[in-house]
Amino acid sequence: MNIKHHPTDETLLAYASGTLSQAMELVIATHMTLCPHCRDKVAEFEACGGAMLNGSDSLAMNVDALDHVMAMIEQEIANENAAPLPVTAPRRVAVTAGPSGSAVPSLPTPLANLLPDNILSLEDIPWRSLAPGVKHFPLKSVQTKGTVRLLKIAPGISIPDHGHGGHEMTLLLKGSYIDDVGRFCAGDVADLADDIDHQPIADTAEDCICLIATDAPLKFNGILPKLLQPFIGM
Ligand SMILES: [Zn+2]
Repeated sequence: MNIKHHPTDETLLAYASGTLSQAMELVIATHMTLCPHCRDKVAEFEACGGAMLNGSDSLAMNVDALDHVMAMIEQEIANENAAPLPVTAPRRVAVTAGPSGSAVPSLPTPLANLLPDNILSLEDIPWRSLAPGVKHFPLKSVQTKGTVRLLKIAPGISIPDHGHGGHEMTLLLKGSYIDDVGRFCAGDVADLADDIDHQPIADTAEDCICLIATDAPLKFNGILPKLLQPFIGM
């Protein structure tokens, strides 16, 4: 699998330390089944976290705590001789290596664990219509302040131009899309901060299927999407 877009280091560090929302954690865990690069990075962060926990009886939590932790992590990464220590960070979603290929051939384990037992592939998803050319399947078992859903976008269909009230994370599972940020194919992650506006368009002849998590409702820029937003629930 030729993955070109990965989550940011900040996101992977938050994943390793167990501070991501469950919705975001699901997207990262699913991406990691496909991406050895991010698996290695998270293992490195977790080893650093373990080393820090073992090396201090307590960490005073004050306003400098984050800077302090980041500085310690950078120092640990710089030290090539640091021996990996047992992982102590919480792990709520199982991660296993997935098969490689140009598309996600089967349901990655973290995602499959949240779907009904009779869904064995993306073809089995009981899609619900959201808007013309756009279908979705919300994952209700994830407790989160934002949303997480599977989204299926028909070829040539564009999701209305929108910004984000918070973090938006999208993992491509099938097909591809192109937006202001770049072109995203199966396995790629779009890790978008709240200040990025974009308008993704499914740009090949096949359906684009992605797993998308948001920490806050999207902010659509056009008047029609704004009017429709309460009804489509994004
Ligand atoms: Zn990656």
